[in-house]
Amino acid sequence: MKNNNVILSLVLEPDPLLHKKSELVTEVNSEIIEFSKKLIATMKYHKGLGLAAVQVGVLKKIIAVDIINTGREGDVSLNLEEGPRILINPEIIEKSSDKKTYAEGCLSFGNIFPEVERYNKIKVKYLDLDGKENLLEVSDNIISSCLQHEIDHTNGIVFLDKLSRIKKEFMMKKYLKWRKNNSES
Ligand SMILES: [Zn+2]
Repeated sequence: MKNNNVILSLVLEPDPLLHKKSELVTEVNSEIIEFSKKLIATMKYHKGLGLAAVQVGVLKKIIAVDIINTGREGDVSLNLEEGPRILINPEIIEKSSDKKTYAEGCLSFGNIFPEVERYNKIKVKYLDLDGKENLLEVSDNIISSCLQHEIDHTNGIVFLDKLSRIKKEFMMKKYLKWRKNNSES
């Protein structure tokens, strides 16, 4: 059941907000913590692996990622405890030269799953909910792609921006068709 106090509304493409750069969080206060809980609840409600604040209409550099139940081998080798996690002001500080490709989904883009090429390994700097700086190294799994996808959101970049122009147009058409067919319900 949808609890409207906790579950936030998703921003769907086409929406100019999704293409705007979010602002850095200057202080991790109670307001940020409360919002982060709702961001996680909204991500889980929609069964997403990740969700950025801009996707619920808040232009702040906050992302939620869920590192459990990805169903892919190798994901347990993360330097993370299990469970959803909030990353504030996430920034990629190191990246590998090698890349890999995953079929990605996005809660702002309905039912399309384009193959997107991303760095294999990344190191991310972020603030946790205690306002403490942390480093996170992720390699060779879907979480690496997921993190890059969500960090892109904080910079106003969506996954279709990573595709060639032709693929992007194809996927956009497919998405708009899906949206038209699903907007009446
Ligand atoms: Zn997304």
